[in-house]
Amino acid sequence: MKEDFLSRLAVIVGQDYVSNRPEDLYLYSRDPGAQKPRRADYVVMPRTVDEVQQIVRLANQEKIPLTPMGAGLTLSALTVPLRGGIALDMKRMDSIIEVNEASRYAVIEAGVTQAALRAYLEKHHPHLQHSTPESPPTATIVGNILIQGHGHLTPRYGINSQMVNGMEVVLPTGEVCKLGSSSISPSWFSRDPLPDLMGLFLGWLGTTGIVTKLSMQLFPKPSYRDLLLFVSDSTELIPEIIDELSQINLLENCFIITQEKPRWAQRIYYIIVISGQSQAEFETKKGLHNQIFQKHPDKVSPVNEEPALTPLRERFLGVPPFAATAADFRKGGGFEYTGAILPIEVIPRAWQSGIEIAHKYDLLYQLGIQLLPNGHSVMLAYSYPFNRAVAEEADRARGALDETNHLTLELGGVVWKPELPAQKLILERMDVGTRQLIDRIKKMLDPNGIMNPGNWEVS
Ligand SMILES: Cc1cc2nc3c(=O)[nH]c(=O)nc-3n(C[C@H](O)[C@H](O)[C@H](O)COP(=O)(O)OP(=O)(O)OC[C@H]3O[C@@H](n4cnc5c(N)ncnc54)[C@H](O)[C@@H]3O)c2cc1C
Repeated sequence: MKEDFLSRLAVIVGQDYVSNRPEDLYLYSRDPGAQKPRRADYVVMPRTVDEVQQIVRLANQEKIPLTPMGAGLTLSALTVPLRGGIALDMKRMDSIIEVNEASRYAVIEAGVTQAALRAYLEKHHPHLQHSTPESPPTATIVGNILIQGHGHLTPRYGINSQMVNGMEVVLPTGEVCKLGSSSISPSWFSRDPLPDLMGLFLGWLGTTGIVTKLSMQLFPKPSYRDLLLFVSDSTELIPEIIDELSQINLLENCFIITQEKPRWAQRIYYIIVISGQSQAEFETKKGLHNQIFQKHPDKVSPVNEEPALTPLRERFLGVPPFAATAADFRKGGGFEYTGAILPIEVIPRAWQSGIEIAHKYDLLYQLGIQLLPNGHSVMLAYSYPFNRAVAEEADRARGALDETNHLTLELGGVVWKPELPAQKLILERMDVGTRQLIDRIKKMLDPNGIMNPGNWEVS
């Protein structure tokens, strides 16, 4: 059966783009995070929508699981096939189909990476940019949007999934449909005002369909850009500062970070990214943000000296920034973070507890807040570096992640891009009616349960 199935896949995509060799499957059976590997049985790399449809139909016929994958870099093992089957690697579908300058959007295929779009825009449309996450450059734009990720323009323009104008999707039973304005018009310019079907695919972790094309908003690139850096020791001040930043709502991006190593980094650093199209706009914004911090002279001060100044500027001024540069990468390279989406008022407790959890598991702490749009909430990333070569250290990292996820839910927050144990915790707490709705939608779209099974599994 195995060889026969492989040759049927090969008929669809060509011999060079399928494999069941252990050395090829190795990569598809794990990700760089702390979760344990699970074996994929086949990998297949389609080039066209028609090939995706044929693969989906074949998987349905044989009831073989199918896990769509961009770069597999969530760190939460969301592309590690929990029940084996086919890893559907979308990287060959890598065309940038259109960039519309007037309505400012790009239509891309599912395999287009962050680096590819960025390089394309720099070359052909240098005054436009997309909201870039700090994930590795090989991460796909579609994978990032489908997990409702964040980019360097998030505080100003929204989380990346809010920037979607439309999608083309192959449903789990093989039909293709278009969503947004592209369903009635040649232009992919808008998500509104038709029934919003995008939510059937955002946040579902590849369990409801395969996105083959996507239209995303682009934004003007500013002529002026710089950082303001401040340092404080007061966790209680964080909600107040976020409130004050949101009152004027003029920043491009804002991080609030601390980490255990090097020693100078143990304080609370505010990194405010200011940008503007004219010098006057830029200087006004700088002045207004400086005033916010000057209101608290006893609790916060500007960073204008070493050792903090140069490393913070180097890490945060670029696009993408490097907030997740955990302190101890060199020892074995393992690194995972859990993203807690939190209401503002719980930040001081979440911050303090994060440090305590890291120490309880004998890990170095690194906390980073990414401000979310309009200061209504934050993503607090708890990063845990560990030595991949030491099983006991990976166990400790998993323990810390698990405890952090419990903390997030206890504080009334939501775990972002949840790995399997966190999905279970979320489902246990979820309103019963909502859980049943999730179950019904999945069964309606995917009657044979082939799509990334195990994830968001209610029954
Ligand atoms: C150092 C580091 C820093 C990071 N920083 C950020 C950050 O700043 N912001 C951020 O948002 N994320 C960040 N991440 C998390 C992650 O890397 C990114 O979100 C990344 O863009 C995910 O893209 P991917 O191609 O790896 O997705 P994948 O892991 O391949 O896929 C993600 C999910 O989408 C599904 N999927 C993928 N493609 C399709 C498709 N075509 N159709 C249907 N389902 C599909 C998969 O099954 C999976 O469930 C970071 C990760 C690392 C390692």
